[in-house]
Amino acid sequence: MTCAPTEASPELGPAPALEDADYFHVSNMLSPEEQQRLKVMRDVLTQEIRPHVAEFWTKDEFPHHLLKKLGQHGFGAIETEPGSRLFKGLVYAELARADLSLSTLVGIHNELIVGALLEAGSAEQQDRWIPRLKTFDAVGSFALTEPDHGSDIAKGLCTTATKEGDEWVLNGFKRWIGGATFADFLIVFARDTADHEVKGFIVETDRPGVHARKIEHKMALRIIPNADITLENVRIPAENALTGAANFSAANILLRNSRAWVGWEAAGAQMAIYDVVHHYATSRHQFGRPLAEFQLVQQPIAKILGNVTASLAMMAQLARLQEAGGLEMSHAALVKASTTALARESAQLGRGLLGGNGILADREMGKIFADVEAIYTYEGTYEVNSLIVGRAVTGASAFI
Ligand SMILES: Cc1cc2nc3c(=O)[nH]c(=O)nc-3n(C[C@H](O)[C@H](O)[C@H](O)COP(=O)(O)OP(=O)(O)OC[C@H]3O[C@@H](n4cnc5c(N)ncnc54)[C@H](O)[C@@H]3O)c2cc1C
Repeated sequence: MTCAPTEASPELGPAPALEDADYFHVSNMLSPEEQQRLKVMRDVLTQEIRPHVAEFWTKDEFPHHLLKKLGQHGFGAIETEPGSRLFKGLVYAELARADLSLSTLVGIHNELIVGALLEAGSAEQQDRWIPRLKTFDAVGSFALTEPDHGSDIAKGLCTTATKEGDEWVLNGFKRWIGGATFADFLIVFARDTADHEVKGFIVETDRPGVHARKIEHKMALRIIPNADITLENVRIPAENALTGAANFSAANILLRNSRAWVGWEAAGAQMAIYDVVHHYATSRHQFGRPLAEFQLVQQPIAKILGNVTASLAMMAQLARLQEAGGLEMSHAALVKASTTALARESAQLGRGLLGGNGILADREMGKIFADVEAIYTYEGTYEVNSLIVGRAVTGASAFI
């Protein structure tokens, strides 16, 4: 018997991406061409992204070269390129499986930045930004939340926009704005002082009066910087207004789509949890046997797989609704709340299954465990999304 540590086993580094993580073969519903495209994108994520992210997460640093790589492989153009909703959703899931911080940036980029320009931008705005956005040669940030208004932003939004001749003048504060420390522009939602409607504006970050300060000491999504923004008499030309975003319903369409994207993120995060616990339980030995042989270890593995499968199945049906033009806010809110709650449960089980190693970022599990907390909260908290569903099915609004 040797007492020399064998702690190289299980080895450090990412767990292999297991086919079983999609246990009911949701990806087989794609056309053969899309299955092949998904495989190529998954390979890029598995080989070129997932092995490198833990280091940047620990350092609290954004890996710009990895974003460039994602741009080269089409991740900046998910919403502008043709493809079924199921394909796009599974790409989002694979991104989250590799890393939730980068998946956050890419999801916001496609759903809320490119999405806003496609949904509400003029032809000139689209021509100016979309070609560079597609390759991540330009980055935009979505600036809705404020220091004093998170869940109640629709009614509470305080940032103002005042029309002065051919210009708008913006004043106010934004909080939590993802990627804003290096973004080229912000999409700012501000209340028009004339008609009190919430409108969308493109604000280049090099304009006088725009200040972004990184929020320090985050315990989740440490790769993507979030910022506090100050807008101090920021002047933008009238043509920077998003003409299709003249009231809050434009923001609501974007939020509906982005809540659906977070559902895919939660499914992908759980695929990663399954990869990690399966790898660990089959390679770590205790009591002279692999952990995987113990009944009390198999049960949580089955529970995690059940949670992943339920999330993927729910998202696949949501993709069908979306494809048919039938996606409503309450559908998106239901998947957002349900899948992130399942992801939280899966992350808790996975963290426990790795014992002490479950709190380490470089074993992936500690990082995923922390990151899942953020997706449970952003794009509308669990509670707020539950209230949206509750309002839709009971007819009674719990919001004042
Ligand atoms: C990592 C991260 C990234 C983000 N990125 C962005 C971004 O890029 N752009 C952007 O605009 N915003 C972003 N956000 C902001 C995010 O959308 C808000 O954090 C979220 O909407 C919740 O707002 P809040 O944090 O102010 O919480 P609060 O609204 O203060 O809520 C606190 C608690 O009260 C509960 N609560 C509130 N109202 C009710 C109610 N009526 N009934 C029951 N419970 C209630 C909430 O569910 C929560 O548990 C990000 C947030 C995080 C954490």
